[in-house]
Amino acid sequence: MTDKITIKGAREHNLKNVSLEIPKNELVVFTGVSGSGKSSLAFDTIFAEGQRRYIESLSTYARQFLGQMDKPDVDYIDGLTPAISIDQKSTSNNPRSTVGTVTEIYDYLRLLYARVGTPFCPKCGKPIKPQTIDEIVESILKLPEGTKIQILAPIIKGKKGEYQSLFDELRQEGFVRVKVDGEIYNLDEDDIKLAKTKAHTISVVIDRVVVKPEAKSRIADSAQIALKKADGVTNIDIVGGEEIIYSEKLACPDCGLSFDELTPRIFSFNAPYGACDRCGGIGVDFRIDPDLVVPDRSKSIKDGAIYPWSRSATSYYDDVLRAVKEAYNMDYEIPFGEMPEEHQEIILYGSDERIPMRIREFGSHRYRSSMQKFIGVIPFLMKHYNIESEYWKAEIEKYMVTTPCEKCGGARLKPFPLAVRINGKNIHEFCTMSIDKEHEFITDLYLTLTDFQLKIGKQILDEIRARLKFLMDVGLSYLDLARMAGTLSGGEAQRIRLATQIGSGLSGVLYVLDEPSIGLHQRDNERLIKTLFKLRNMGNSLIVVEHDEDTIRNADYIVDIGPKAGLHGGNIIAKGGVEDLIDCKDSITGKYLSGEWNIPVPKTRREGNGNYLQIRNAYLNNLKNIDLDIPLGKIVVLTGVSGSGKSTLMQDLIYEYAIHKLRKNKPKPQGVGEILGFENLDKIIDIDQSPIGRTPRSNPATYTDVFTPIRELYAKTNEAKMRGYKPGRFSFNVKGGRCEACQGDGVLKIEMNFLSDVYVKCDVCKGKRYNNETLEVKYKGKTISDVLEMSVKEAYEFFENIPQIANKLKTLNDVGLDYIKLGQSATTLSGGEAQRIKLASELNKRATGKTLYLLDEPSVGLHWYDLDKLIKILQQLADNGNTILIIEHNLDLIKIADYIIDLGPEGGDFGGEVVACGTPEEIAKNPKSYTGQYLKNMLK
Ligand code: ADP
Ligand code: ADP
Ligand code: ZN
Ligand code: ZN
Repeated sequence: MTDKITIKGAREHNLKNVSLEIPKNELVVFTGVSGSGKSSLAFDTIFAEGQRRYIESLSTYARQFLGQMDKPDVDYIDGLTPAISIDQKSTSNNPRSTVGTVTEIYDYLRLLYARVGTPFCPKCGKPIKPQTIDEIVESILKLPEGTKIQILAPIIKGKKGEYQSLFDELRQEGFVRVKVDGEIYNLDEDDIKLAKTKAHTISVVIDRVVVKPEAKSRIADSAQIALKKADGVTNIDIVGGEEIIYSEKLACPDCGLSFDELTPRIFSFNAPYGACDRCGGIGVDFRIDPDLVVPDRSKSIKDGAIYPWSRSATSYYDDVLRAVKEAYNMDYEIPFGEMPEEHQEIILYGSDERIPMRIREFGSHRYRSSMQKFIGVIPFLMKHYNIESEYWKAEIEKYMVTTPCEKCGGARLKPFPLAVRINGKNIHEFCTMSIDKEHEFITDLYLTLTDFQLKIGKQILDEIRARLKFLMDVGLSYLDLARMAGTLSGGEAQRIRLATQIGSGLSGVLYVLDEPSIGLHQRDNERLIKTLFKLRNMGNSLIVVEHDEDTIRNADYIVDIGPKAGLHGGNIIAKGGVEDLIDCKDSITGKYLSGEWNIPVPKTRREGNGNYLQIRNAYLNNLKNIDLDIPLGKIVVLTGVSGSGKSTLMQDLIYEYAIHKLRKNKPKPQGVGEILGFENLDKIIDIDQSPIGRTPRSNPATYTDVFTPIRELYAKTNEAKMRGYKPGRFSFNVKGGRCEACQGDGVLKIEMNFLSDVYVKCDVCKGKRYNNETLEVKYKGKTISDVLEMSVKEAYEFFENIPQIANKLKTLNDVGLDYIKLGQSATTLSGGEAQRIKLASELNKRATGKTLYLLDEPSVGLHWYDLDKLIKILQQLADNGNTILIIEHNLDLIKIADYIIDLGPEGGDFGGEVVACGTPEEIAKNPKSYTGQYLKNMLK
């Protein structure tokens, strides 16, 4: 075994044929400016190769996909161990995933509840326990004389096909009926055939006996036979009438209910044994909300009142609506809310009558007439929700609300598992406590369980307790195990995966992490770093891409990549300890670490424009009925520990309320009294790090719209005029000038079964996106395809004399994106790059000075050097009178705020209050504010 990983000749993306050695079993931090090549080396080279080799070691079945799996562009890597990546992506949107299931803690809980839980009758609440055969016979004999009973003995066998011989055998033994999956069948040929198609569980129905004292021995005999047939399964139900069931297992004699054995699977909401019958274990009912379908009732149908139908390019909806209008003589020009109730009903929920419909066929000019029912907008959406693609599902979900399941109230399980308790709590109630409370609860069990229970349960308790502790260590005490994984932020999901990995106890693994500090308050950073150490001390190697200063300073080994981004990066600049970086004169990171360069504290704080957004009685999630005034015309930073309520306030309330007020296409959000002051704003813009497009078709040129004047310029060249080419000819999105083999993508998508899609260069145009004729048109010797290959900087120099183009390119340049290519596909841009492209295109627009910009942790992925640039853009937007509201943990960004709102004091139930408000200087003086304590040092 070598003690290092050796990489030779890495050239992925911008990497400049780099070679290096990384020590194993250490905490290695990759740092450098955004776009310098950290992820290209950590994820796209080292991790990708580790994963590729892993797949290579698998079955031949998996290996057939290997040829298509890109080998990273690297000469060789030596000393690689199995690799696991922990990043912010790939959070599950499956409603069946919860914090409990993804951390596997729920699996241990199921075991715990099955082993040491006390079952109660879900009907009367009395504790229940199993009965012996003697007890069963005793109570049968207490029944009124003449009651008919059945003795059932379940036989559970694996496969459907195996039942034939069993049925034959039973018939020979004189049995006449069987119960298959709850239904009774006679043992004649036809019924057996039916039964065989479903059998998962069958029970033998022994006999009908009339209860008389002298029948006692017959009952006992029958029970014996049943037991023998039952293949060692000892569960016997004796049914009287339809009502009374006795069981050698669990039963409530008073209510006459019997229950399954306590096994882990009955506590699973992801399997039929445990899942609530009504919601199937999801815990919620989905329904389309009429208020989301018609968000603004003062609009008429003609003006697009039916929101989901108002944005389509097809004529289908118009045709349908016209038919309905004519059939019912509706008025589409009055506000929807003023239409007669029955008209509103028909539009939303349809009618049973057939009416004449005349609908244009898709993609043609022909009309087809027929008599059809109009099913209504809501049933229409529901129908499509159930049959259509993921895309449609996501579209339609925008009009859906979820309400807790009527039967289980959101607990996801059947009544019986929910009636099993430990120290008074059922498994669902346990899972809805915060993680620190759960930890306390489990710790108490060591004292309160009986010796016997402890003997069975101790190992399970140890496991659960340790895993809960790991979650607390990564700053997630405020979450609960029932929380749906899909509602977690990227940072939370990442730290959950980190904690889960520690719980799994693997060693000899190479972990590659992407900025684990995201979403974490400075206060909790130290514990996160200790967690990384713990993972290392278990015998693992860690490569962490990180910009956080504490993490860099705590690393065993630092690799600084740069010096700058893109073409100007991709080299190893310095490696070793902090001192090695400081000593290296080319290391930008070193300059910031030594303090030679820094982000300055502003000399003054903006006064604002005297207006406020006034939030009144905000109570969503953990917010404690807060009132808050947010000053406008300033940079306002929302701070507070993870889970204190920042996103709830900004995303769920302010953003949603603004959409309701300013765009009028959403109802008022729940969870707040009101928010006043939107008359002082005219636009709201959410600048997040989501991709600027999901296909290779979107790129910086199209997103910022600089491509439009470029195409116009090409259409004005003599060559184009002569050939009659219009600007559209130079678009790769429409037929005409583009290469039709790849439809202008330049690449062809190959869909893989279980791996992510692979793109290969188009053979026909060689990746140039256009056909040959188009490429014959040149401007200053360059084709339109050449332009897309230029970096922003090159293009800026090339188009210097064309202001419409040059100005837009300059903004991209100013936000620090001089190195990206104009045609670089959106799918390859980092979150930080996407964010800055969005900011650049905002800066290009004419400023109204009344815009509210929302940014959620804009510092993610940014080095000090990039942060400096970002801050300058934000300053410029604020100087133009706009308001900027930022959620942030990075102290370098917090310190430039004009105004800070610090939420807390803690996460979850113990948060949701305004701890302090004011300028950074004021916050730093406030002893109650955690943020203030850390800010103090920054302001010196
Ligand atoms: P970092 O992780 O340091 O921010 P990256 O490794 O993500 O930097 O990116 C390095 C350079 O490679 C950037 O210029 C980026 O735009 C480019 N890049 C990243 N992914 C791709 C890709 N899939 N195809 C082409 N270029 C890419
Ligand atoms: P922050 O942004 O400060 O980290 P959040 O606003 O995300 O905090 O969370 C505040 C509280 O609300 C936390 O207790 C969190 O668990 C809870 N919470 C946030 N989103 C949801 C949700 N979709 N469902 C249930 N609880 C939520
Ligand atoms: Zn009962
Ligand atoms: Zn339910």
